[in-house]
Amino acid sequence: MKIGFIGLGNMGAPMARNLARAGHEVTGFDTAAPTPEGVTPVNNAADAVAGAEVVITMLPNGEILRAVADQIIDRMQPGAVLCDCSTVDVASARAVAAQAGAAGLGALDAPVSGGIGGADAGTLTFMVGGSGDAFATVQPLFEVMGQKAVHCGESGAGQAAKICNNMILGVTMIATCEAFALADKLGLDRQKMFDVVSTSSGSSWSMNTYCPAPGVGPKSPADNEYKPGFAAELMLKDLRLSQTAAEEADADTPMGQLATALYSTFVEEENGRGKDFSAMLPRLVSRHRS
Ligand code: NAD
Repeated sequence: MKIGFIGLGNMGAPMARNLARAGHEVTGFDTAAPTPEGVTPVNNAADAVAGAEVVITMLPNGEILRAVADQIIDRMQPGAVLCDCSTVDVASARAVAAQAGAAGLGALDAPVSGGIGGADAGTLTFMVGGSGDAFATVQPLFEVMGQKAVHCGESGAGQAAKICNNMILGVTMIATCEAFALADKLGLDRQKMFDVVSTSSGSSWSMNTYCPAPGVGPKSPADNEYKPGFAAELMLKDLRLSQTAAEEADADTPMGQLATALYSTFVEEENGRGKDFSAMLPRLVSRHRS
């Protein structure tokens, strides 16, 4: 398949490289990042989409996605599909899909879970919003870049799934870190705490797979001085997206609201930027009850 790929950063580069390795003809553009092996570089976004059957974007946020969409939608060939894999707000996803639809294009919002490791290994999970036809067109590419693609519904449904998933992740990570901090003060050994909770009703991905305590559980960023992994500021971005969506939809999300406030303080006032989001554990351990 002929593919245009825009946004070749931490996630986009390995995804584009995997598509090229699988034999697809990939043309790539990024304003700053280098072009990965096997991908043909071009000088601007419009050139990246010329003649492509599928255009994939992997960009920082909704504002940049809207700006790039303005540059490429008129240049895409009729019937092609614009597949955005970035994590953006539901409103931007729907607006770009409507703009693409009006120009005779297919459109999908297809954010991912699995991080840089999953992008590299081709084991991402895609959560996808948009038409069944557009989903069917892009499905073979999801199979190269990931291990699972769930068609969640119409435009915006993929971003809705991503935002809800990451709100759970932010909340469970804080809960897991709080429990370790309390266990420390109660004199409970961290390894014993892991052994119990990871097979009990307090278990979660945050405890079992991404344990925030160094030297406990499988290898995680905690074992690498909390270098990301998944940076605290990216967790904050996703939590803020959840709160914007909750406000627009009039949904009551008190735990999501608290998690947003805590990551906001951590990132913006306490030097948390550039640390993994599991560094909430040393942050809590260093404090007294407020
Ligand atoms: P990144 O900052 O490494 O990559 C984004 C790339 O977009 C950069 O290389 C940047 O130069 C490029 N870019 C910015 N403006 C551009 C433009 N106008 N035209 C072309 N290129 C442009 O970020 P990332 O970690 O690759 O994340 C990308 C998206 O994936 C984000 O929305 C993020 O929330 C989401 N995501 C990231 C992870 C993760 O673990 N890193 C996991 C899941 C989802």
